[in-house]
Amino acid sequence: MNILVINCGSSSLKFQLINAESEEVLAKGLCERIGIDGRLTYQPAGGEKEISEKAMPTHTEAIQFVIDALTNEKTGVVKSLSEIGAVGHRIVHGGEKFASSVVITEEVKKAVEECNDLAPLHNPANLIGVEACEKLMPGTPMVAVFDTAFHQTMPEKAYMYGLPYEYYEKYKVRRYGFHGTSHSYVSKKAAEVMEKAYDEVKTIVCHLGNGASVSAVLNGKSVDTSMGLTPLEGLVMGTRSGDIDPAIMEFIAQKENLDIEGIMNVLNKKSGVFGLSGGISSDFRDLTGAMAEGDKKAKIALEVFAYRVAKYIGAYAAAMNGVDDIVFTAGIGENVSYVREQVCSYLGYLGVELDPDANEKFRGEQGEITKPGCKVRVFVIPTNEELAIARETLALVK
Ligand code: ADP
Repeated sequence: MNILVINCGSSSLKFQLINAESEEVLAKGLCERIGIDGRLTYQPAGGEKEISEKAMPTHTEAIQFVIDALTNEKTGVVKSLSEIGAVGHRIVHGGEKFASSVVITEEVKKAVEECNDLAPLHNPANLIGVEACEKLMPGTPMVAVFDTAFHQTMPEKAYMYGLPYEYYEKYKVRRYGFHGTSHSYVSKKAAEVMEKAYDEVKTIVCHLGNGASVSAVLNGKSVDTSMGLTPLEGLVMGTRSGDIDPAIMEFIAQKENLDIEGIMNVLNKKSGVFGLSGGISSDFRDLTGAMAEGDKKAKIALEVFAYRVAKYIGAYAAAMNGVDDIVFTAGIGENVSYVREQVCSYLGYLGVELDPDANEKFRGEQGEITKPGCKVRVFVIPTNEELAIARETLALVK
């Protein structure tokens, strides 16, 4: 069965068509600037990338262009819509309602809508994608795969904040965690690589992309993760601050004459390694480049980033009373050997001994970067959220 995987944002839509049996990507692409003008990037497997400007006033037109591209006589990869058996949608926030993926029904859509408050930038856009697909592909089963679902196994002691209990009761203020599809996919893969049963390992996953989070996966279940009610908590990220003293908000608000919206904008968009580096960049290629040229702020930004990751690893080793393996994934985790080396330099006490050659070698590909026989093994494992969504979708519609 071919499965269309959709990741819908407010003005963009990423897609992949995946043969769920062979797990081959038949085509992939991206619609951008939806509601502004519109641009479609489409690439069939083994074919040329095509970029075309197309009017996309809404997501419905965008999905129609995706379907047209996939079924195009010359460059398409299927003959008709009937060859698309199901659609898997990435949904960011499932609140406490969804601990696993589900087939989308009217009730599911309503329940997702009820989580809009918790992810106002993402969930409404995700739902627009669902509705556009329903309109153009009536009768095709749709599945919702939630970023938060994998972390629903966290115990209360991990997800409750030290706040008045009534905020949890009234507003469901608690830790949810994100990137769940990725944490689940790479932790499972690491167990496979180690030839161990997934429900018998203690794994710490470092998903280090533009957004970044760490998770503690004990016997196949997430027991803690660094992102919280929103993706702002935890690690220092591309432009997000991660953990700070909450009193800084009032202090800076007064000094800089900012309201809550202004402060949130600073914490989400102007902080992280971007802010720390004095605005050089949020991209680690630029930061390592600037550091190599002697830029002090770029160096500090990278040091703070790695130190925070190492502290979370220490915390999660404590939470699980040990750790068998640590996995680096996503853009930075898969590619930036300098960050991995820095992080591992704090982990000798756990029994991590980095193999510098292996660490340099593995970029964007799977490999082990600790020396043979290490007590705690460290892996680079490329994440593949689209494939994970296709697998979940297949399992539910089969
Ligand atoms: P997201 O999905 O959160 O946008 P990614 O997982 O794609 O993030 O990671 C994006 C980040 O990864 C970039 O900002 C960049 O810092 C880093 N990155 C990606 N590829 C490379 C590379 N080849 N070399 C160095 N850094 C990279």
